[in-house]
Amino acid sequence: MATKITRRSWAEPYKMKMVELLKTTSRAQRIKAIREAGFNTFLLRSEDVYIDLLTDSGTNSMSDRQWSAFMLGDEAYAGSQSYYKLEDAIHKYYGYKYVIPTHQGRGAENILSQIMIKKGQYVPGNMYFTTTRVHQELAGGIFVDVIIEEAHDPNNLHPFKGNVDLQKLENLVKIHGAEKIAYLTLASNVNMAGGQPFSMENLKAVRDFTKKHGIPIIHDMTRVAENAYFIQQREPGYQEKSIREIVREICDHTDGATMSAKKDALVNIGGFMATNDPQVFEEARNLVVVYEGLHTYGGLAGRDMEAMAVGIKESLDDRHQHARVGQVLYLGEKMQEYGIPIVKPVGGHGIFVDARAFLPQLSQDQFPAQTLAAEIYMDSGVRTMERGIVSAGRNAKGENYYPKLELVRFTIPRRVYTQAHMDVVAESAALVYERRKKIRGLRMVYEPKYLRFFQARFEQL
Ligand SMILES: *Cc1c(COP(=O)(O)O)cnc(C)c1O
Repeated sequence: MATKITRRSWAEPYKMKMVELLKTTSRAQRIKAIREAGFNTFLLRSEDVYIDLLTDSGTNSMSDRQWSAFMLGDEAYAGSQSYYKLEDAIHKYYGYKYVIPTHQGRGAENILSQIMIKKGQYVPGNMYFTTTRVHQELAGGIFVDVIIEEAHDPNNLHPFKGNVDLQKLENLVKIHGAEKIAYLTLASNVNMAGGQPFSMENLKAVRDFTKKHGIPIIHDMTRVAENAYFIQQREPGYQEKSIREIVREICDHTDGATMSAKKDALVNIGGFMATNDPQVFEEARNLVVVYEGLHTYGGLAGRDMEAMAVGIKESLDDRHQHARVGQVLYLGEKMQEYGIPIVKPVGGHGIFVDARAFLPQLSQDQFPAQTLAAEIYMDSGVRTMERGIVSAGRNAKGENYYPKLELVRFTIPRRVYTQAHMDVVAESAALVYERRKKIRGLRMVYEPKYLRFFQARFEQL
Protein backbone atom coordinates (compact mmCIF):
# COMPACT_ATOMS: atom_id res chain seq x y z
CA MET A 1 0.00 0.00 0.00
CA ALA A 2 1.31 3.44 -0.93
CA THR A 3 2.04 5.64 2.06
CA LYS A 4 0.25 9.00 2.42
CA ILE A 5 3.24 10.57 4.10
CA THR A 6 4.70 13.37 2.02
CA ARG A 7 7.28 14.63 4.48
CA ARG A 8 9.02 13.48 7.63
CA SER A 9 8.25 15.41 10.81
CA TRP A 10 10.98 16.31 13.20
CA ALA A 11 10.72 16.49 16.97
CA GLU A 12 12.66 17.97 19.84
CA PRO A 13 16.09 16.33 20.26
CA TYR A 14 15.45 15.68 23.97
CA LYS A 15 12.87 14.07 26.24
CA MET A 16 11.50 15.13 29.62
CA LYS A 17 12.94 13.92 32.89
CA MET A 18 11.28 16.38 35.25
CA VAL A 19 8.21 18.59 34.87
CA GLU A 20 6.96 21.75 36.53
CA LEU A 21 3.22 21.87 37.23
CA LEU A 22 1.27 24.84 35.90
CA LYS A 23 -1.55 26.67 37.62
CA THR A 24 -4.72 27.70 35.79
CA THR A 25 -6.87 30.67 36.74
CA SER A 26 -10.40 31.91 36.04
CA ARG A 27 -11.09 34.95 33.91
CA ALA A 28 -12.27 36.85 37.00
CA GLN A 29 -8.96 36.09 38.77
CA ARG A 30 -7.00 37.26 35.75
CA ILE A 31 -8.91 40.54 35.46
CA LYS A 32 -8.21 41.23 39.12
CA ALA A 33 -4.53 40.33 38.65
CA ILE A 34 -3.94 42.55 35.59
CA ARG A 35 -5.72 45.50 37.30
CA GLU A 36 -3.45 45.11 40.30
CA ALA A 37 -0.51 44.96 37.92
CA GLY A 38 -1.45 48.31 36.36
CA PHE A 39 -2.09 46.58 33.00
CA ASN A 40 1.62 45.87 32.76
CA THR A 41 2.43 42.18 32.24
CA PHE A 42 5.85 42.75 33.86
CA LEU A 43 4.07 43.46 37.15
CA LEU A 44 2.04 40.23 37.20
CA ARG A 45 3.02 37.51 39.65
CA SER A 46 4.16 34.46 37.74
CA GLU A 47 1.84 32.26 39.83
CA ASP A 48 -1.05 34.01 38.05
CA VAL A 49 0.40 33.11 34.62
CA TYR A 50 -0.44 29.93 32.71
CA ILE A 51 1.91 29.97 29.69
CA ASP A 52 4.69 32.49 30.17
CA LEU A 53 5.86 34.07 26.91
CA LEU A 54 7.02 37.31 28.51
CA THR A 55 10.60 36.69 27.52
CA ASP A 56 13.09 34.08 26.42
CA SER A 57 15.57 35.62 28.86
CA GLY A 58 16.73 33.40 31.69
CA THR A 59 13.65 31.20 31.19
CA ASN A 60 15.37 28.31 29.41
CA SER A 61 15.27 24.71 30.61
CA MET A 62 18.70 23.43 31.45
CA SER A 63 19.75 19.95 30.39
CA ASP A 64 20.73 17.11 32.72
CA ARG A 65 24.32 17.84 31.73
CA GLN A 66 24.00 21.48 32.80
CA TRP A 67 22.45 20.50 36.13
CA SER A 68 25.27 18.01 36.65
CA ALA A 69 27.80 20.70 35.88
CA PHE A 70 26.17 22.80 38.59
CA MET A 71 27.50 20.36 41.15
CA LEU A 72 31.03 20.91 39.87
CA GLY A 73 30.87 24.64 40.51
CA ASP A 74 34.07 25.90 42.10
CA GLU A 75 32.97 28.68 44.43
CA ALA A 76 36.44 30.02 45.11
CA TYR A 77 36.45 33.82 45.28
CA ALA A 78 39.50 34.08 43.04
CA GLY A 79 40.72 31.91 40.18
CA SER A 80 37.72 29.56 40.15
CA GLN A 81 38.17 26.48 37.94
CA SER A 82 34.66 27.16 36.65
CA TYR A 83 35.83 30.48 35.24
CA TYR A 84 38.57 28.75 33.26
CA LYS A 85 36.05 26.28 31.83
CA LEU A 86 33.89 29.16 30.70
CA GLU A 87 36.87 30.96 29.20
CA ASP A 88 37.85 27.77 27.34
CA ALA A 89 34.34 27.40 25.88
CA ILE A 90 34.35 31.02 24.70
CA HIS A 91 37.80 30.66 23.13
CA LYS A 92 36.83 27.40 21.47
CA TYR A 93 33.37 28.21 20.10
CA TYR A 94 33.41 32.00 19.70
CA GLY A 95 37.11 32.70 19.30
CA TYR A 96 37.37 35.97 21.23
CA LYS A 97 40.73 36.38 22.97
CA TYR A 98 39.80 38.01 26.27
CA VAL A 99 36.78 37.30 28.45
CA ILE A 100 35.17 39.15 31.37
CA PRO A 101 32.23 37.37 32.99
CA THR A 102 29.30 39.55 34.11
CA HIS A 103 26.08 38.82 35.97
CA GLN A 104 24.11 39.28 32.72
CA GLY A 105 24.20 41.16 29.41
CA ARG A 106 23.67 44.66 30.73
CA GLY A 107 26.60 44.29 33.11
CA ALA A 108 28.80 43.75 30.07
CA GLU A 109 27.16 46.66 28.24
CA ASN A 110 27.82 48.99 31.15
CA ILE A 111 31.53 48.19 31.32
CA LEU A 112 32.05 48.18 27.56
CA SER A 113 30.18 51.49 27.06
CA GLN A 114 32.16 53.22 29.79
CA ILE A 115 35.44 52.10 28.27
CA MET A 116 34.76 52.58 24.59
CA ILE A 117 32.54 55.68 24.38
CA LYS A 118 33.82 59.23 24.79
CA LYS A 119 31.20 61.87 25.58
CA GLY A 120 29.52 63.13 22.41
CA GLN A 121 30.56 60.19 20.24
CA TYR A 122 28.06 58.41 18.00
CA VAL A 123 27.26 54.73 18.37
CA PRO A 124 25.58 53.33 15.27
CA GLY A 125 23.72 50.04 15.61
CA ASN A 126 21.40 47.74 13.68
CA MET A 127 18.36 48.91 15.66
CA TYR A 128 18.45 49.90 19.29
CA PHE A 129 18.08 47.54 22.20
CA THR A 130 16.67 48.94 25.45
CA THR A 131 19.52 48.22 27.89
CA THR A 132 22.24 48.63 25.25
CA ARG A 133 21.11 52.13 24.34
CA VAL A 134 20.62 53.23 27.94
CA HIS A 135 24.23 52.29 28.75
CA GLN A 136 25.48 54.01 25.62
CA GLU A 137 23.60 57.18 26.58
CA LEU A 138 24.69 57.05 30.22
CA ALA A 139 28.28 56.90 28.94
CA GLY A 140 27.66 60.09 26.90
CA GLY A 141 27.13 58.39 23.54
CA ILE A 142 24.48 59.10 20.91
CA PHE A 143 22.81 56.06 19.38
CA VAL A 144 22.13 56.13 15.62
CA ASP A 145 19.97 53.50 13.93
CA VAL A 146 21.65 52.12 10.79
CA ILE A 147 19.51 49.04 10.15
CA ILE A 148 18.04 48.64 6.66
CA GLU A 149 14.65 50.34 6.18
CA GLU A 150 12.97 46.98 5.51
CA ALA A 151 13.40 46.14 9.21
CA HIS A 152 10.88 48.83 10.14
CA ASP A 153 8.18 47.34 7.91
CA PRO A 154 6.43 44.34 9.51
CA ASN A 155 5.19 43.09 6.13
CA ASN A 156 8.45 43.20 4.25
CA LEU A 157 9.68 39.67 3.52
CA HIS A 158 13.40 40.50 3.28
CA PRO A 159 15.24 37.36 4.48
CA PHE A 160 17.89 39.36 6.37
CA LYS A 161 16.09 42.24 8.03
CA GLY A 162 18.91 42.55 10.57
CA ASN A 163 21.30 43.84 7.90
CA VAL A 164 23.15 47.12 8.30
CA ASP A 165 22.36 49.79 5.71
CA LEU A 166 25.87 50.65 4.53
CA GLN A 167 24.68 53.90 3.02
CA LYS A 168 23.39 55.06 6.42
CA LEU A 169 26.69 54.10 8.04
CA GLU A 170 28.70 55.81 5.32
CA ASN A 171 26.65 59.00 5.68
CA LEU A 172 27.28 59.05 9.40
CA VAL A 173 31.04 58.76 8.84
CA LYS A 174 30.89 61.41 6.11
CA ILE A 175 29.04 63.92 8.30
CA HIS A 176 30.89 63.46 11.60
CA GLY A 177 34.18 61.75 10.69
CA ALA A 178 35.24 58.29 11.82
CA GLU A 179 36.90 59.61 14.99
CA LYS A 180 33.47 60.73 16.28
CA ILE A 181 32.24 57.14 16.08
CA ALA A 182 32.92 55.00 19.14
CA TYR A 183 32.08 51.68 17.50
CA LEU A 184 29.30 49.92 15.63
CA THR A 185 26.98 47.71 17.70
CA LEU A 186 26.06 44.76 15.55
CA ALA A 187 23.34 42.59 17.06
CA SER A 188 22.81 39.10 15.76
CA ASN A 189 19.18 38.08 15.26
CA VAL A 190 17.97 41.58 16.08
CA ASN A 191 15.61 41.39 19.03
CA MET A 192 13.73 44.64 18.47
CA ALA A 193 13.16 43.92 14.78
CA GLY A 194 11.43 40.66 15.67
CA GLY A 195 14.38 38.28 15.89
CA GLN A 196 15.67 39.00 12.39
CA PRO A 197 19.13 37.90 11.20
CA PHE A 198 21.88 39.65 9.29
CA SER A 199 23.54 37.85 6.40
CA MET A 200 27.20 36.88 6.26
CA GLU A 201 27.47 38.88 3.04
CA ASN A 202 26.30 42.01 4.84
CA LEU A 203 28.63 41.36 7.78
CA LYS A 204 31.61 41.02 5.43
CA ALA A 205 30.74 44.30 3.70
CA VAL A 206 30.35 46.02 7.09
CA ARG A 207 33.70 44.57 8.16
CA ASP A 208 35.44 45.90 5.04
CA PHE A 209 33.97 49.35 5.52
CA THR A 210 34.66 49.62 9.27
CA LYS A 211 38.20 48.31 8.84
CA LYS A 212 38.93 51.03 6.30
CA HIS A 213 37.79 53.67 8.80
CA GLY A 214 39.19 52.13 11.97
CA ILE A 215 35.76 51.63 13.54
CA PRO A 216 35.48 48.56 15.80
CA ILE A 217 32.50 46.21 15.53
CA ILE A 218 31.04 45.20 18.89
CA HIS A 219 28.88 42.14 18.47
CA ASP A 220 25.76 41.87 20.64
CA MET A 221 25.91 38.09 20.39
CA THR A 222 22.92 37.35 22.60
CA ARG A 223 21.25 35.34 19.79
CA VAL A 224 24.18 34.46 17.56
CA ALA A 225 23.30 30.78 17.15
CA GLU A 226 19.78 31.62 16.02
CA ASN A 227 21.27 34.05 13.49
CA ALA A 228 23.60 31.29 12.30
CA TYR A 229 20.63 28.95 11.85
CA PHE A 230 18.97 31.43 9.48
CA ILE A 231 22.22 31.88 7.54
CA GLN A 232 22.41 28.10 7.17
CA GLN A 233 18.79 27.94 5.95
CA ARG A 234 18.77 30.99 3.70
CA GLU A 235 22.18 32.14 2.52
CA PRO A 236 23.76 30.60 -0.58
CA GLY A 237 26.95 28.69 0.26
CA TYR A 238 26.06 27.92 3.91
CA GLN A 239 23.78 24.87 3.65
CA GLU A 240 26.63 22.46 4.24
CA LYS A 241 28.17 24.42 7.12
CA SER A 242 27.32 23.62 10.73
CA ILE A 243 25.89 26.21 13.09
CA ARG A 244 29.07 25.91 15.09
CA GLU A 245 31.16 26.86 12.03
CA ILE A 246 28.88 29.74 11.07
CA VAL A 247 28.87 31.16 14.62
CA ARG A 248 32.65 31.12 14.64
CA GLU A 249 32.80 32.86 11.28
CA ILE A 250 30.46 35.61 12.54
CA CYS A 251 32.56 36.19 15.67
CA ASP A 252 35.78 36.23 13.64
CA HIS A 253 34.52 39.22 11.65
CA THR A 254 34.02 41.31 14.80
CA ASP A 255 36.32 42.90 17.39
CA GLY A 256 34.51 42.23 20.63
CA ALA A 257 31.18 41.23 22.09
CA THR A 258 28.63 41.57 24.82
CA MET A 259 26.55 38.52 25.63
CA SER A 260 23.42 37.86 27.60
CA ALA A 261 23.84 34.12 28.15
CA LYS A 262 20.26 34.05 29.44
CA LYS A 263 19.12 33.65 25.84
CA ASP A 264 21.08 31.54 23.34
CA ALA A 265 23.41 29.98 25.91
CA LEU A 266 20.61 28.14 27.72
CA VAL A 267 21.16 29.32 31.28
CA ASN A 268 19.01 31.19 33.78
CA ILE A 269 21.60 33.85 34.64
CA GLY A 270 24.93 34.96 33.22
CA GLY A 271 26.72 36.94 30.58
CA PHE A 272 30.12 38.20 29.55
CA MET A 273 32.06 40.80 27.69
CA ALA A 274 34.73 39.67 25.23
CA THR A 275 37.33 41.55 23.23
CA ASN A 276 40.35 40.99 21.04
CA ASP A 277 41.89 44.30 22.15
CA PRO A 278 44.36 43.89 25.06
CA GLN A 279 43.93 47.52 26.12
CA VAL A 280 40.15 47.30 26.33
CA PHE A 281 40.56 44.05 28.26
CA GLU A 282 42.96 45.68 30.71
CA GLU A 283 40.46 48.44 31.48
CA ALA A 284 37.51 46.05 31.61
CA ARG A 285 39.30 43.78 34.04
CA ASN A 286 39.78 46.82 36.22
CA LEU A 287 36.22 48.18 35.96
CA VAL A 288 34.49 44.84 36.48
CA VAL A 289 35.60 44.76 40.11
CA VAL A 290 33.70 48.01 40.71
CA TYR A 291 30.38 46.87 39.27
CA GLU A 292 30.23 43.09 39.13
CA GLY A 293 32.91 41.29 41.11
CA LEU A 294 36.39 39.94 40.60
CA HIS A 295 37.34 39.29 36.96
CA THR A 296 37.17 35.52 37.47
CA TYR A 297 33.51 35.51 38.55
CA GLY A 298 31.92 38.83 37.49
CA GLY A 299 28.88 38.52 39.75
CA LEU A 300 28.28 34.85 38.99
CA ALA A 301 28.49 31.76 41.15
CA GLY A 302 30.98 29.14 39.98
CA ARG A 303 28.07 26.84 39.15
CA ASP A 304 26.54 29.49 36.87
CA MET A 305 29.76 29.62 34.86
CA GLU A 306 29.82 25.80 34.65
CA ALA A 307 26.26 25.69 33.32
CA MET A 308 27.04 28.46 30.83
CA ALA A 309 30.05 26.61 29.46
CA VAL A 310 27.88 23.54 28.80
CA GLY A 311 24.98 25.64 27.49
CA ILE A 312 27.21 27.39 24.94
CA LYS A 313 28.14 24.00 23.48
CA GLU A 314 24.54 22.73 23.45
CA SER A 315 23.30 25.90 21.76
CA LEU A 316 25.49 25.19 18.74
CA ASP A 317 23.93 21.79 18.01
CA ASP A 318 22.17 21.86 14.64
CA ARG A 319 19.25 19.75 15.84
CA HIS A 320 18.70 21.98 18.87
CA GLN A 321 18.39 25.11 16.73
CA HIS A 322 16.18 23.32 14.22
CA ALA A 323 13.74 22.43 17.01
CA ARG A 324 14.03 25.81 18.73
CA VAL A 325 13.42 27.98 15.70
CA GLY A 326 11.04 25.32 14.31
CA GLN A 327 8.73 25.74 17.28
CA VAL A 328 8.66 29.51 16.74
CA LEU A 329 7.80 28.97 13.06
CA TYR A 330 5.03 26.55 14.07
CA LEU A 331 3.35 29.20 16.25
CA GLY A 332 3.81 31.82 13.51
CA GLU A 333 2.13 29.64 10.91
CA LYS A 334 -0.79 28.91 13.24
CA MET A 335 -1.32 32.61 13.88
CA GLN A 336 -1.22 33.39 10.19
CA GLU A 337 -3.83 30.69 9.53
CA TYR A 338 -6.09 32.60 11.93
CA GLY A 339 -5.44 35.85 10.04
CA ILE A 340 -3.54 37.54 12.88
CA PRO A 341 -1.16 40.25 11.62
CA ILE A 342 2.40 39.31 12.60
CA VAL A 343 5.88 40.50 11.69
CA LYS A 344 7.17 38.57 8.70
CA PRO A 345 9.21 36.61 8.04
CA VAL A 346 8.88 34.86 11.40
CA GLY A 347 11.99 35.48 13.51
CA GLY A 348 14.05 33.26 15.76
CA HIS A 349 12.83 33.80 19.31
CA GLY A 350 9.19 34.70 19.16
CA ILE A 351 6.18 35.90 17.27
CA PHE A 352 5.70 39.63 17.11
CA VAL A 353 2.06 40.61 16.59
CA ASP A 354 1.51 43.92 14.81
CA ALA A 355 -0.66 45.75 17.35
CA ARG A 356 -1.30 48.73 15.05
CA ALA A 357 -2.89 46.43 12.47
CA PHE A 358 -4.66 44.41 15.20
CA LEU A 359 -6.16 47.47 16.91
CA PRO A 360 -6.31 50.20 14.23
CA GLN A 361 -8.87 52.14 16.32
CA LEU A 362 -6.16 53.03 18.88
CA SER A 363 -3.66 55.86 18.35
CA GLN A 364 -0.07 55.18 19.43
CA ASP A 365 -0.66 57.37 22.51
CA GLN A 366 -3.32 54.88 23.61
CA PHE A 367 -0.68 52.14 23.75
CA PRO A 368 -2.04 49.51 21.34
CA ALA A 369 0.63 46.92 22.12
CA GLN A 370 0.38 47.40 25.90
CA THR A 371 -3.40 47.05 25.55
CA LEU A 372 -3.21 43.90 23.46
CA ALA A 373 -0.78 42.18 25.84
CA ALA A 374 -3.23 42.83 28.71
CA GLU A 375 -6.17 41.52 26.65
CA ILE A 376 -4.38 38.28 25.76
CA TYR A 377 -3.55 37.74 29.41
CA MET A 378 -7.16 38.31 30.47
CA ASP A 379 -8.34 35.86 27.82
CA SER A 380 -6.12 32.89 28.65
CA GLY A 381 -3.43 33.61 31.22
CA VAL A 382 -0.81 33.67 28.44
CA ARG A 383 1.73 36.35 29.32
CA THR A 384 3.31 38.37 26.50
CA MET A 385 4.96 41.79 26.48
CA GLU A 386 4.88 45.18 24.82
CA ARG A 387 7.49 46.23 22.31
CA GLY A 388 6.31 49.63 21.12
CA ILE A 389 6.06 53.16 22.38
CA VAL A 390 6.35 52.19 26.07
CA SER A 391 9.54 50.20 25.50
CA ALA A 392 10.99 52.92 23.27
CA GLY A 393 10.90 55.44 26.15
CA ARG A 394 12.06 59.05 25.86
CA ASN A 395 15.12 60.75 24.39
CA ALA A 396 17.65 62.82 26.35
CA LYS A 397 15.38 65.89 25.96
CA GLY A 398 12.50 63.99 27.52
CA GLU A 399 10.45 63.63 24.34
CA ASN A 400 8.72 60.33 23.61
CA TYR A 401 10.26 58.17 20.93
CA TYR A 402 7.55 57.13 18.44
CA PRO A 403 8.81 53.80 17.01
CA LYS A 404 7.33 52.66 13.72
CA LEU A 405 6.79 49.20 15.11
CA GLU A 406 4.12 48.72 17.77
CA LEU A 407 4.39 45.04 18.64
CA VAL A 408 3.31 42.44 21.16
CA ARG A 409 5.99 39.85 21.65
CA PHE A 410 5.13 36.20 22.21
CA THR A 411 8.60 35.07 23.22
CA ILE A 412 9.32 31.39 23.40
CA PRO A 413 11.65 30.08 26.12
CA ARG A 414 14.03 27.38 24.92
CA ARG A 415 13.15 23.73 25.61
CA VAL A 416 10.25 24.68 27.92
CA TYR A 417 6.87 24.38 26.17
CA THR A 418 5.32 21.81 23.83
CA GLN A 419 3.54 22.12 20.51
CA ALA A 420 0.20 21.74 22.33
CA HIS A 421 1.05 24.84 24.39
CA MET A 422 1.64 26.68 21.13
CA ASP A 423 -1.86 25.64 19.95
CA VAL A 424 -3.41 27.11 23.11
CA VAL A 425 -1.49 30.36 22.58
CA ALA A 426 -2.55 30.73 18.93
CA GLU A 427 -6.19 30.02 19.80
CA SER A 428 -6.17 32.69 22.50
CA ALA A 429 -4.74 35.27 20.10
CA ALA A 430 -7.41 34.27 17.55
CA LEU A 431 -10.26 34.69 20.04
CA VAL A 432 -9.04 38.16 21.06
CA TYR A 433 -8.71 39.00 17.36
CA GLU A 434 -12.37 38.06 16.81
CA ARG A 435 -13.54 40.69 19.29
CA ARG A 436 -10.83 43.25 18.52
CA LYS A 437 -13.28 46.05 17.60
CA LYS A 438 -14.56 46.22 21.17
CA ILE A 439 -11.13 46.78 22.72
CA ARG A 440 -10.34 50.16 24.30
CA GLY A 441 -6.88 51.60 24.93
CA LEU A 442 -4.91 52.60 28.02
CA ARG A 443 -3.60 55.71 29.73
CA MET A 444 -0.25 55.78 31.54
CA VAL A 445 -0.63 56.77 35.19
CA TYR A 446 2.92 56.08 36.45
CA GLU A 447 6.12 56.46 34.48
CA PRO A 448 9.56 55.51 35.84
CA LYS A 449 12.57 57.45 34.62
CA TYR A 450 14.63 54.56 33.19
CA LEU A 451 13.44 51.60 31.08
CA ARG A 452 9.87 52.57 31.84
CA PHE A 453 8.28 49.48 30.27
CA PHE A 454 9.37 47.35 33.22
CA GLN A 455 7.44 49.26 35.88
CA ALA A 456 4.99 51.69 34.22
CA ARG A 457 1.33 51.51 35.28
CA PHE A 458 -1.80 52.06 33.23
CA GLU A 459 -5.57 52.42 33.49
CA GLN A 460 -8.23 51.46 30.96
CA LEU A 461 -9.74 54.33 28.98
C1 LIG B 1 18.57 40.59 26.76
C2 LIG B 1 19.39 41.39 25.86
C3 LIG B 1 20.39 42.23 26.34
C4 LIG B 1 20.61 42.48 27.81
O1 LIG B 1 20.94 41.35 28.50
P1 LIG B 1 20.46 41.05 30.01
O2 LIG B 1 21.04 39.71 30.27
O3 LIG B 1 18.95 41.06 30.00
O4 LIG B 1 21.01 42.10 30.88
C5 LIG B 1 21.18 42.89 25.42
N1 LIG B 1 20.98 42.76 24.11
C6 LIG B 1 20.00 41.98 23.61
C7 LIG B 1 19.81 41.89 22.14
C8 LIG B 1 19.16 41.28 24.46
O5 LIG B 1 18.20 40.52 23.95
